[in-house]
Amino acid sequence: MSENIESVLHEERVFQPPQAFAAEARLNGESLSALHRQAAEDYEGFWAERAREEISWQTPFSTILDESDAPHYRWFTDGQINVSYNCLDRHLAERGDKTAIVFEGEPGDVRKYTYRELHAEVCQFANALKAQGIRKGDRVVIYMPMIAEAVIAMQACARIGATHSVVFGGFSAEALRDRVNDAGARMIITADGGHRGAKIVPLKAAVDEAIEHGTPSVEKVIVFERTRHGVPMVESRDVRWQDAIAGQPQACEPEWVDAEHPLFLLYTSGSTGKPKGIQHSSAGYLLQAILTNKWVFDLHDRDVFWCTADVGWITGHTYVAYGPLALGATQVIYEGAPTVPDGGRFWKLAAEHAVTVFYTAPTAIRALMKLGDAFPQGHDLSRLRLLGTVGEPINPEAWMWYHRVIGGERCPIVDTWWQTETGGHMIAPIPGAVATKPGSCTLALPGILADVVDEQGNTITEADRGGYLVIRKPWPSMLRTVWGDDERYRKTYWGMFDGRFYLAGDSARRDADGYFWIMGRIDDVLNVSGHRLGTMEIESALVAHEAVAEAAVVGRPHDVKGEAIVAYVILRGERPTGTDADAMTKTLRDWVAKEIGPIAKPDDIRFTEGLPKTRSGKIMRRLLRSIAKGEVITSDISTLENEAVIAQLQGKA
Ligand code: ATP
Ligand code: MG
Repeated sequence: MSENIESVLHEERVFQPPQAFAAEARLNGESLSALHRQAAEDYEGFWAERAREEISWQTPFSTILDESDAPHYRWFTDGQINVSYNCLDRHLAERGDKTAIVFEGEPGDVRKYTYRELHAEVCQFANALKAQGIRKGDRVVIYMPMIAEAVIAMQACARIGATHSVVFGGFSAEALRDRVNDAGARMIITADGGHRGAKIVPLKAAVDEAIEHGTPSVEKVIVFERTRHGVPMVESRDVRWQDAIAGQPQACEPEWVDAEHPLFLLYTSGSTGKPKGIQHSSAGYLLQAILTNKWVFDLHDRDVFWCTADVGWITGHTYVAYGPLALGATQVIYEGAPTVPDGGRFWKLAAEHAVTVFYTAPTAIRALMKLGDAFPQGHDLSRLRLLGTVGEPINPEAWMWYHRVIGGERCPIVDTWWQTETGGHMIAPIPGAVATKPGSCTLALPGILADVVDEQGNTITEADRGGYLVIRKPWPSMLRTVWGDDERYRKTYWGMFDGRFYLAGDSARRDADGYFWIMGRIDDVLNVSGHRLGTMEIESALVAHEAVAEAAVVGRPHDVKGEAIVAYVILRGERPTGTDADAMTKTLRDWVAKEIGPIAKPDDIRFTEGLPKTRSGKIMRRLLRSIAKGEVITSDISTLENEAVIAQLQGKA
């Protein structure tokens, strides 16, 4: 049996950085090489120089990297900063009147905040938090809709040194309670509700339910009135946001904290098991947020940036709440669903707010692609100059659609590989310097020593042989630990290779140009007749067929082959049944055999109208595996949009 993961996908298209783009980009081939050279020659010196250049320090650091408690690495330890100061105060002199946030609610209400206004609101709310008894080091859970106040709450926590933990507003009361208790939060900041999918998400009701079921650490709940649908308030525990800020001054001296002070905890999305409370630092985290917004998104003062991620995910931290503000950029925040009132909402928003840099997830791209080209073509997207994707490997077909229909064949696409744990982008193209290939996240950023290794930890030098994606050296924005569970941190990320390097948990390969291709999760690797295959490549082959909108592939135990390949497929049109389904199955099996080889041919294809996804839009292959095996579903399926889909997936409907 081969121990490496085999590659079956062959993608040959290459797109050079457009000349017009490269000419104005912050980094070009030469300056990028210089950064890589410096990182290779003097790793710590490279990071120290970046940290001194990019961050405003209250007390400068003298220690760069402290390895005394490895793998709990510490960076810039004796320096002191405040993250909110770096995001707001330092812009006031030059950019006080510049728009920081353009907020649009799902019902269409728009509000703009200049840097001066945002600073005043953050200070005022920070004072309100203090008045409610919140101090440096306290944990505060934020359970909000995607509105500007969510960012204000995060920034206010950062300002006073409270550690926030944002829980995605789509999560249930039960999920909220688990996270509140794991973090030991003293306060929950929420809203009466939020607008999503033309409905009201009843956030306050979920908070009440969570507290009813036991959250001993929670003393106070602050409630922002967004939907104003009238929610019951519990006396002495619940405070209206508007009441909390009343009479509070709009200035608040930042609390200077150590570089290592925990800025936030964030629970991972749970694609692979029990969520982990990922703990991030202040300075190291901020540094990567700044660098990647400059390097990868090439943000200039004139740009309008829009990252569609919710603040409940890491992407909404680094590329909404912190990074763009630290750069003094203008950004769009949108509260609602991409399909309200119709599938053109994203494109209408992008056109109306003159968005220049747009960042979203493959799941959204595939969903919008399925709705056809007419929606994007109905809006003026000519201001766009750069597109990005994150969250899953993007299938080459979806990449090409994004490139052609959204980017007008003129915008580079940055496919950014990173994780909650890494704090910021790790592997991604520098758009003015690195050629892109559909489906590849290209090359590691300066200072990030990403590699693909075999089970023994040896670098795989052979092109296109898959293995374990690792990072060979600690970097400033890495997670510091799993909250309250150091053992789990050491075991999960450093256990497999005896602490020698960080294990990402993804499988990947590198092509002859050294480009990285993510093949899927290690846990999802299939073993078919002794061949180890990533799920991603087979899914991409299926999506490349004109009839297919989305596909998910999992293994099912098989007596002879070890595992059989089961594919769940959503077609662009109607879900076929009977002989139509049989004919389509044959077509797709032949297609995969021709595209990537007979070894990858699905044994079983099941047509469905939906796939089980995590709330961040990732396919839950864990659940699909159980279904493929014919197991009874015992895990929580309450997060599914359409539970009837389970019956379809099981072949019962
Ligand atoms: P959990 O760790 O609880 O299972 P999660 O891994 O889904 O949750 P995140 O940290 O949000 O939570 O996601 C990181 C993962 O997303 C990566 O490990 C990788 O599998 C996938 N991913 C993110 N960006 C990309 C990308 N550009 N290309 C391929 N995969 C990506
Ligand atoms: Mg993960």
